[in-house]
Amino acid sequence: MTSTEKTYEGSCHCKSVKLSVTLPAPIEEQKVINCNCSLCVDRALLIFFAAGDKVTIEGEEHLNPYSFNKKVIHYHFCKNCGSILFGHDKDKTQYGINARCISGVDLDKLQLVKHDGASS
Ligand SMILES: [Zn+2]
Repeated sequence: MTSTEKTYEGSCHCKSVKLSVTLPAPIEEQKVINCNCSLCVDRALLIFFAAGDKVTIEGEEHLNPYSFNKKVIHYHFCKNCGSILFGHDKDKTQYGINARCISGVDLDKLQLVKHDGASS
């Protein structure tokens, strides 16, 4: 680990699914996507990206895959509580993780970037 790397833990609401992610810098220095597509609005997602090899998922058997629109991103929601903790591309090289599911994150300190997913 380099000195700026930081590891975050998160889970779905019922804690069946747990996630650990190591970011190159603290989450407050990352861009977090506030997207207006139908899924992000419906599930209140605030997404930040991480390399696939920096993400560890526990309890994957509790996940249900879900894709929509162009089906480029494979989202997963918990079969038990319905939380969407993350999505990834086809090859799992990049993960989009829901900042709201990460513990100890002050959402007011995040750098939110608006993304017009509804029009793409
Ligand atoms: Zn759950």
